[in-house]
Formats: sequence, structure tokens, C-alpha cells
Amino acid sequence: MKTFCGRANPTTGSMEWLEEGEDYDYHQEIARSRYADMLHDKDRNVKYYEGIRAAVSRVKERGEKAIVLDIGTGTGLLSMMAASAGADFCYAIEVFKPMANAAVKIVQKNGFSDKIKVINKHSTEVTVGPDGDMQCRANILVTELFDTELIGEGALPTYEHAHKYLVQEGCEAVPHRATVYIQLVESTRMWSWKKLFPVHVEAEDGEKILVPPSEVENCPGLPSVCDIQLNQMPSSDFSTLSDVVKMFSVDFSKPVQSASTYYRVQLEPVKSGKAQIVLSWWDIDMDPSGMITCTMAPYWVKPTSALQWRDHWMQCVYFLPREEPVLQGEKLYLTAYRDEYSVWYSLQKARADEEEDKADVCVESPVCRCRAHLLWNRPRFGELNDQNRTRQYIKALRKVLKTDSVCLCISDGSLLPVLAHYLGAKQVQYFVLFFRSLHFSLFFKANNLEDKIKIIEARPELLKPSHLEDKKISVLVGEPFFTTSLLPWHNLYFWYARTAVSTHLASNVTVLPHSASLHMMVVEFQDLWRIRSPCGTCEGFDVRTMDDMIKDSLNFRESKEAEPHPLWEYPCKSLSEPQEVLTFDFTKTVPQQCLSTEGSVKLSRKGKSHGAVLWMEYHLAADISVSTGLMQLSNEKGNCEWNPHCKQAVYFFSSVIESEILSDPTAVTYAINFDTKTGEIAMDFKL
Ligand code: SAH
Repeated sequence: MKTFCGRANPTTGSMEWLEEGEDYDYHQEIARSRYADMLHDKDRNVKYYEGIRAAVSRVKERGEKAIVLDIGTGTGLLSMMAASAGADFCYAIEVFKPMANAAVKIVQKNGFSDKIKVINKHSTEVTVGPDGDMQCRANILVTELFDTELIGEGALPTYEHAHKYLVQEGCEAVPHRATVYIQLVESTRMWSWKKLFPVHVEAEDGEKILVPPSEVENCPGLPSVCDIQLNQMPSSDFSTLSDVVKMFSVDFSKPVQSASTYYRVQLEPVKSGKAQIVLSWWDIDMDPSGMITCTMAPYWVKPTSALQWRDHWMQCVYFLPREEPVLQGEKLYLTAYRDEYSVWYSLQKARADEEEDKADVCVESPVCRCRAHLLWNRPRFGELNDQNRTRQYIKALRKVLKTDSVCLCISDGSLLPVLAHYLGAKQVQYFVLFFRSLHFSLFFKANNLEDKIKIIEARPELLKPSHLEDKKISVLVGEPFFTTSLLPWHNLYFWYARTAVSTHLASNVTVLPHSASLHMMVVEFQDLWRIRSPCGTCEGFDVRTMDDMIKDSLNFRESKEAEPHPLWEYPCKSLSEPQEVLTFDFTKTVPQQCLSTEGSVKLSRKGKSHGAVLWMEYHLAADISVSTGLMQLSNEKGNCEWNPHCKQAVYFFSSVIESEILSDPTAVTYAINFDTKTGEIAMDFKL
């Protein structure tokens, strides 16, 4: 079966219809899934195995048969562990068909077909009885249904149902329990992902301050979890205001309730400060005694030597509804609310009785009302709050603005028109071109600029002279930033929009940025390589079927394509010097023919070349550029500092080479092609 999926091309902006076979979603799912990452998570695997062995022994010691229910079996790994540990029979449930098929193959290959029955169903559809999927209820419940927030993948309703219908009372559970921990912190960096800070602009007639609208100030933000690799957050970027506190725990061996509820703990700040953020992570105890624990605790809570890198479980950042000044030693109450799938927090100052009632009222999860949190994701908030970046734009705008400028800004939800207004003389006219309904006018209202800056809601190709009051544009500006961009070069949409509005531009128009360049560097990743690396065997079980499946899915569409990753979270070292590989001249329209380049890079440092990183730099005005990728390269070791607000493109090489001899550096040849019709960048590397 084929389906046609319509989408706006992120680079060219044009609508296109893609023919998708029914396998497309499967391949996407598998290629992008975290199965490989889980199989590489040694700490997790070893502890599950220990916990499963202990549970099987306990059941056997009671003289019972060990009947295992493994919900969400994936590759079948945990069922195979149970069977090896002596379980009499395992029911391995997997809802995702391609995975269930893979599990059947893997189980067979490892010789467990007589002990493990793979059932391709959602656990809530599984039946028990002589004619059912399961002959009888199980007495060991094994699952791995957790996400970074613990419950985001539906663990609670699944457990609730399993205890009611699929397992015996008093069953063993692996894991036995999960505990969620929190720590209250102050962090300007993390707070800048939710709040818009006032922007200070030194104008000719004094300092101007761009203030965020009250709607944005008071907005609860987004309900979705903010999960990050907290271990990459330097301790200088936050200040802990409380000890680590147990927030709540769930015993998986007893009936579980998924209905909304809340938990409250008392906190005594260890230091005075501004409470803004709740950092959170969890651990799972694989056995009742708590001797086998797998923890997500960050580096300052446990020794770095014990850290296991993993991407499928990270840590959570929760934003308090508002910043709260707290004093060392004062009594505070932190409340965690949860529904079936998510968690959120609020902080109360003492007076517990009155607050008790309030807690019951405030059980609705945060939902963005101001729309800014829908328009700008969290990294984008961080970017807008980045004062260094703002300064570059201010400097560049100063250079290009004249007293009689007529400006047009093309960027999603950009503050550039406001900056330009403050910097320019009063006659300057500004137009902002929007074609997505963004309700952005509130920013202009909050700063009394509604009559100074005109929002045009039209697609660039539909712009009419009347929109511009029959004026020609003398300064065209853009950051550029578009919400539809996934890969760095998708923001080249600015170039396409600029091309579409060409007839409205004055002959001597200034375009800011005047050009962009694509840069590339070969790197060795500290850990990220794992997500693409085959596993072979996992705790002694042959999982090559899974490796092959991932490889097939990657080859299905992904080959010769890069993928976006925020590299501040994924350290790497450079093996080559950064190179500029393509340039895009925004003073001219998009050319008809493709832009291509070929060349080679020398691997000047010792290491494993896992792939190439690509990013864009925008050249705003003479000598003023902003990078969305590499910010700094420390030359001795090749450590890279990446722009923390942007995702960079990573192209994983199909095979890894080790560069050794520095006197005769290995070269990697590349061919990169930007197809101006499709807006796609194809690349090929030869090692
Ligand atoms: N148990 C494997 C895989 C864990 S990933 C391992 O530990 O390596 C979780 C898997 O559970 C996914 O494949 C997902 O499709 C499946 N899943 C999640 N909830 C489920 C449910 N309620 N019923 C059946 N499968 C489920």
C-alpha cells in the first residue's frame, strides 16, 4: 500500500507530495529508535539480569513454577535472561509488529523457542485462560517501559492493567520499585529556556529595554518533559538550593494506580537563592532488598567513574510556575503532581494547612496560553536570551540601518524588528512578514510598537505592493530562524523567501545576513557513536537480527543523509580542522543550478573518525558572523564547544577508521551537493 503525505519543504517552502510505502513509518521508527542504545547499556542489562535471576530463584525456592510475563519485550532480551535463569515459561508481549517479528527470530536463534512465546499485542489486549494468549497468570512480572520521566511511555496504566488481569497476587516484579529524586536549583541558563529576559539595547537616545509581555511572563509553559544529558551541564551553570530528596516511589510488585495524584515533600534550602528549576531523575531497584540498583543520578551525586552513558534515559528539567526567592533553612514544600503520563511541580512556602487545599485545586498540567512556548521551543528561548548573540545582531543592524530605511524582516517570531526600531531613526518603517498564524503582535503591543511595526500575514510569494504601502524594501533582515527547520541548512528558507520577494526590493537593497556558509569537520564522538554501532551479542545473547534490522532501516531512506543532534550534549573531539564547504549568497536570488563541492580533509589528530559534523554560519555584515555550530576549538586536544541553542547535523560514516600516523595524515574525501530545486543537501564521504 502506498500513501501520499503532504508536507511543506523546510528549505524551499514549497508544498510537496511524497509517496510513502507502508514500511516507511516502520523504518523511521526503527532507524530512529533507541533499541541499539538500550542494548549497549551494559549497566542496565547486567542489573536486569541480576534482578531476574534473583526473582526466579525466589519463586523456585517457594517450590513454584516460574512463569514470566515480559511486557514490551523488544528484542526478547529480558525473556531470554529469564529463560536462562531457569524460568519455566515466558510470555513476551510486544505491540510493535516489526519488533515482535524480530523477537521471534532472535528467540529462535538463541534456542529458546520452547520456553518463550512472543505475542504481538498491546498488553491490555492479552487474554488469559485455556484458550487465551497465556495459559495462566504469571508470577514474575518483568518490564522495561520507562522513559526519562519514568512514566511517559505509559508504564503506570500498563502495570495497573497487568496486576488486575495478567499476574498473580504477590508476584515478583523486576524492577521491584522505582524512586524519583529531585533537587531544587537556581540556574539562569536553564531558566532562560522558559522565560524571556528583558533585552537591553543601547540606542542613540539612551538605553531601551524590550520587555516580555505579561502573557508570556505568567504562562505555565509546556507540559512536555524537558529531558537533557544533565551530565554535560557544568556545575558553574547552576547552583543547588536543596539536598537531593526522594520525591515518590512506585512498588511494581503490588497493584499500581495510574489515576492522577500528588506527592509532597518538605525542603530546607541549604542556601538562599532563587528557586527556578527542579532537576529530577530516578533509580530502579531490581530486587526488594534494594541491593541491585540502576540509577540515573548525575555526576555530582555519584562518582563519575560509575556513570554509564545512555541516551534512552537521561534527566529531567522542570520549570517552576514562577521564580521564588528562598532563604537558607526556611521551610518549603515541594509538590509533584502527576497524571497517567507526566509530572510537574510547584513550590509552596510553609503554612501547610492552607496550602493543602490549594494543592488539590492545582492538578492541571501546565499548558501554554501565550503561544510563545508553542512558537519557540526551549532552545529557541535560550537563543533569544543569549545576549552575546543579540549584541552581534545589534552591531550589524547599526551598520546597515539608515534614517530612511524601509525594512522587511523574514524570520519566525523574531525580535529583530524591535531591535531595529530602537536602533533606527523614527522615520524608519518596518514590516514583518509572517505566514503562519503566530499571534506575535503581543510582543509589539507590550512594547508600544503596534503602530510602528506592521505584521503582514502572507506567504512571501503572495506579497503585494499594497502590503508595503507601495514602498520598496531597502533593508531585508532575517536571523534566519524558522520553526520548521530541523537540519541547519533548512534555515536557507530565508534565501528562497528573499527570492520570492525580489520584485519588492530596492535595487540597492541591503540583505542581512548577506550570506551564509556551510562548515564541516570530522570528529570522534565520546559516546554518541553507540547509537549507530551494531551490538552483536548482549549479555551472551545473539542480537544480530536487531543489528541487521537497524541497518536495513537506516539504508531505507537515511543513507547519505545527516541527522540533527544538539552537540553540547554529546561531546566529541575534532580530528580535522573545520572547513567551509559551501557558501550561499543572499544578495542574489537562488540559482537554478545545483551548488556542489568536492575536496578532502586531512585527519590531523589521532582518533576514530565516527562521522562529520556540519553547521551553518551567517554573515550579518562585514566582520560580523554568527555560528550555529562550532563556537570554539581548543587546539591541543581538539575539544569542541558547540552553540548550545542549536542542533548540528551529524553524518555518521558507514565504517570507522582510526587515524594513527600524524606525519602522513589520512585524508577523507567528500562530495557535497546542494540541490537548489529540492533544497536538499546530499553528501558522500570516502575514507
Ligand atoms: N524489553 C526490551 C525492550 C524495551 S523497549 C529491553 O529491555 O531491551 C520497550 C518496548 O515495549 C517497545 O518495544 C514498545 O513497543 C513495547 N511496549 C510498550 N508498552 C507496551 C505494552 N503495554 N504492551 C506491549 N508492548 C509494549
